[in-house]
Amino acid sequence: MSLAQGRPYLAIPGPSTMPDRVLAAMHKPAPNIYEGEIEEIAARVAANLRRVAMSSSHVAIYIANGHGAWEASIANVFSRGDKVLSLVTGRFGNIWALNAAAMGVEVERLEFGLKSPADPARVEETLRADKGHEIKAVLLTHVDTATSVRNDVAGIRAAIDAAGHPALLMVDCIASLGCDEFRMDDWGVDVMVAASQKGLMVPPGLGFVWFSDKALEASRSSNMVTPYWNWHPRAFPEFVYQYFGGTSPTHHLFGLDESLKMILDEEGLPHIWNRHAALARAVWAAFETWGQGGDLALNIAEPEFRAHSVTAARIGGGGAERLRKWLETEAGVTLGIGLGMAEPGTPEADDFLRVAHMGHVNAHMTLGALATMEAGMQALNIPHGRGGIAAAAGEIAKGVAQA
Ligand SMILES: *Cc1c(COP(=O)(O)O)cnc(C)c1O
Repeated sequence: MSLAQGRPYLAIPGPSTMPDRVLAAMHKPAPNIYEGEIEEIAARVAANLRRVAMSSSHVAIYIANGHGAWEASIANVFSRGDKVLSLVTGRFGNIWALNAAAMGVEVERLEFGLKSPADPARVEETLRADKGHEIKAVLLTHVDTATSVRNDVAGIRAAIDAAGHPALLMVDCIASLGCDEFRMDDWGVDVMVAASQKGLMVPPGLGFVWFSDKALEASRSSNMVTPYWNWHPRAFPEFVYQYFGGTSPTHHLFGLDESLKMILDEEGLPHIWNRHAALARAVWAAFETWGQGGDLALNIAEPEFRAHSVTAARIGGGGAERLRKWLETEAGVTLGIGLGMAEPGTPEADDFLRVAHMGHVNAHMTLGALATMEAGMQALNIPHGRGGIAAAAGEIAKGVAQA
């Protein structure tokens, strides 16, 4: 007998759980796109996007997903033949690098495998060796959603500075913004990309690029950008249509306006960072306990380098894929698939899954997902250590007791 009836819970790393208030804010007729309310909303959303990035820089909004924001960032900053240093810690960093190369940028890669963060020492060494300062930018993924590694953005900036290198620092925060602490100005980030459907809790469809004055200066000599992707009119619009290169994404703006209000003016970023950290610790505690009695493990060994928005894990013998299917059909919970952790078609490809805890997620949702996972492991005879849910509950209790 399936017990999946009731409200389904999608615990995949994007689209994230959206607040009903965001959905309700979108449920109304379209406004006039030439004047009035839309002008105020566009200006307020742009200002609040800078606040959510902790930045006084500029922001361009695109009707696009994260891939579009990636492409916008590359098209504005570079000319064909320019060189970048790409730090790869998982599938998303890999694709950003491949896309840059496909657009005509020369990409030098530093690979850090699928279980480790980017090492600032190797970045410093590589930049020191670039005596002619040919490398124009360093590409980094804050949280690589495939491996759930969380990179030390400030540490990479410090490595660039220690090498005395002028490279821009460009960071993909698609899976971290609005979940993990991120400070664009304090951490010396020149370009940052994000999208609407993860920590910002809005349906997929908007991509964002923030850029510093230094990046703006670099963009003036780029020969790659085409009119739609050009960030100048979007960041410095005279008329409201210039924000969006055409018709406003009216309903996404209604939703984003509401979610940014909830994030910035109601819950507040520090609380949001702490909430995601506490939920993440509950997930880690469950897996660590389960792993004591079975072939289960978190992908990232060191807690310091684990994302607070998503957790990648391994359950051997194809257990991950069997558990994922059971949860969806029998319990109404959908977990994320493993991404890029093993060659598709090999037996190992079924050993990986991801639990998302990003966006509008609370203690009962995360504990509920973990407890149904434990039920699934019992039902499927997947060996696991006892007490995972008690350990997770303990972390939730500790998180609530925190000041
Ligand atoms: C989701 C994600 C992307 C891709 O975003 P899309 O909206 O699917 O194009 C890129 N980078 C990271 C880190 C992501 O999590």
